[in-house]
Amino acid sequence: MKLQNYALGQWIDGQGEGKPLYNAISGDVIATASSAGLDFGEMLNYGRTEGSKALRKMTFHERGRMIKELALYLLERKELFYKTSYQTGATKVDSWIDIEGGIGNLFAYSSLRRQFPDETYYVDGDHIPLSKKGSFIGHHIMVPKQGVAVHINAFNFPIWGMLEKTAVNWLAGVPAVVKPATITSYLTEVMVREIDKSGILPPGALQLICGSANGILDHVESQDIVTFTGSASTGKMLKAHPRLLEEAVPFNMEADSLNCSILGADATPGTPEFDMFIKAVRNEMTVKCGQKCTAIRRIMVPEHLVEDVQIALGSQLAKTVIGDPQVEGVRMGSLAGKSQVDEVRSKVEQLAQEQRIVYGDLDNFDVTGANKEKGAFISPILMVNDNPFTNTAVHEVEAFGPVSTIMPYKNLDEAVELARMGKGSLVCSMVTSDDELAREFTLEAATHHGRILILNRDCERESTGHGSPMPMLTHGGPGRAGGGEEMGGKRGVMHYLQRTAIQGSPTTISRITNVYQPGAHQNVTDVHVFRKHFEELNIGDTVITAKHTVSDADIVNFANVSGDNFYAHMDATSLEGTIFEQRVAHGYFVLSKAAGLFVDAKKGPVLLNYGLDECRFTKPVYPGMTIGVRFTVKEKIGQEKRSEDDIAKGIVKFLVDVYDETGETVALATILTMVKKLDQN
Ligand code: NAP
Repeated sequence: MKLQNYALGQWIDGQGEGKPLYNAISGDVIATASSAGLDFGEMLNYGRTEGSKALRKMTFHERGRMIKELALYLLERKELFYKTSYQTGATKVDSWIDIEGGIGNLFAYSSLRRQFPDETYYVDGDHIPLSKKGSFIGHHIMVPKQGVAVHINAFNFPIWGMLEKTAVNWLAGVPAVVKPATITSYLTEVMVREIDKSGILPPGALQLICGSANGILDHVESQDIVTFTGSASTGKMLKAHPRLLEEAVPFNMEADSLNCSILGADATPGTPEFDMFIKAVRNEMTVKCGQKCTAIRRIMVPEHLVEDVQIALGSQLAKTVIGDPQVEGVRMGSLAGKSQVDEVRSKVEQLAQEQRIVYGDLDNFDVTGANKEKGAFISPILMVNDNPFTNTAVHEVEAFGPVSTIMPYKNLDEAVELARMGKGSLVCSMVTSDDELAREFTLEAATHHGRILILNRDCERESTGHGSPMPMLTHGGPGRAGGGEEMGGKRGVMHYLQRTAIQGSPTTISRITNVYQPGAHQNVTDVHVFRKHFEELNIGDTVITAKHTVSDADIVNFANVSGDNFYAHMDATSLEGTIFEQRVAHGYFVLSKAAGLFVDAKKGPVLLNYGLDECRFTKPVYPGMTIGVRFTVKEKIGQEKRSEDDIAKGIVKFLVDVYDETGETVALATILTMVKKLDQN
């Protein structure tokens, strides 16, 4: 079978015979892949025109719902992907990480739409005053880049690798060209075919290259974004491409990483932490046959515990049944291909010149249900390095398979230093129930790791583990790990948006951002804003309320109702040394009284008030002062109906500006209300 490329909205055969791709278990040829003849320049242009235009027209909420629909569609067809995934040498658990983990990323990013406005762009942070009288302000907006995300991926997670990245660029409104590593591209192709069949994405939102992508970077332009996951050598070569420099194209690299796990000195044999350390290291060595960018390569242990760890880990690894993942009882499948076996073997041989193998053998091991010679099998290999400060290959050489090394440390400084010798990693974990130790280690080590997990009895049951990058957290690491950042919830989406500072009058900036900015024109209407439905409210619509003169009785009554008898409210003789000149009204009284002034009481479209976004009491209010409220529509966020019979509604944020008889603001707050829509469909 010849894999096809998905380019320009069509499935296209690459020219020539193509590169043979093998079943990692049986060694049989299962497909060939070729990208010869594809016009990469045309593909990128197609993405920039068709895909980008369509996605940029959609709001964050629409894109999020599209991603959710796709996730549900793919989940229904997951068995198809599992069937193909076995051919990569993956067990059911390994495939689950790739397939359902990948689809899980789509769900996570779909949910993230709620943290963005129902607009095509994002308003970043608050306005920045730039003038004395307030007629000139600054703000920031973020709009989707008008280019293509070019994702060049590693072979180990053919599905997760694609979805963890495309979920983010789609939510941002940017299309993608995905280039999986050739050897496992047959699995990515199966999924892209299903995505295409679904018809859920707009044309041009996704293209696929099965086969080499050499030369694609010659065509990138300044609005494009390139991400790379793979070996440091390829990554560095691509990062140095002159076109990236010329066009100032962001290049995000995720490369080799010599991750480590540290056993805390308190976690001695017999403690739950010791057992969870052994389990975590065993899992990280054997899951996905060790082909995980986050796998534990370096195991750091207090020197007097090296032997205990070696024995415990050896006996756990001995339970690893290697073989065909579809055969009952098999715990570890194979590497992705024979070339990976050669690669891992040579790295183990290199490491073995400086350290001893204490578990496993490159040649002598059993394979269940498959032919050991034909498949890409390898045994877990555990090593011990007694002098990790002098025999340093362990901090340089990444064997991308089930290979890890135990090394001793004397004290925390040494543990930090050893961790640092990896020159930057994706993840590091420490297993300890000593929070002081955890704090000291984390603060010292953080510069060198993208993520630090502290594991102990309090969190183990719910911990997502050392190896799992979570979509809401930033994934990536400094130094050797590439210096890149991916995913990361909202932070991830920002990679695909252009942040632009905007300057002008508050009224202009309100119009551009669709969020009321202080000082902007207020549209004082005859009809109270509480009498209007969601669609009838405009940003800047304002109610100027009646006024109220605050009295001593107000303060006493509020103290009685709330039980708040703080001295500054209740005892005029206690104010020496404070900022108050007389007994001061409770801030919450001022806000409550403001509500009394701005609320229109009769039943209407406002369903409820569900809280405050921010609230400041900016000037003391004393008895005798008169307050009033400017109550302004600040922002509107439409909501989706949860079910057919749900009330159609949206969130309206109101700016509550309470001012005194001099016109000066005494309290500012943003209240959140739910307002019915006219259109109940
Ligand atoms: P690789 O050989 O560096 O290949 C990575 C990707 O680059 C593949 O898709 C490859 O395509 C492509 N590529 C190579 N030359 C290219 C060129 N001139 N132009 C465009 N694309 C090009 O890495 P790998 O063997 O697939 O992956 C294993 C490595 O990835 C390990 O070292 C591991 O540490 C690292 N990794 C890191 C992370 C992370 O997040 N940090 C995650 C997973 C893996 P072809 O397959 O067609 O050559």
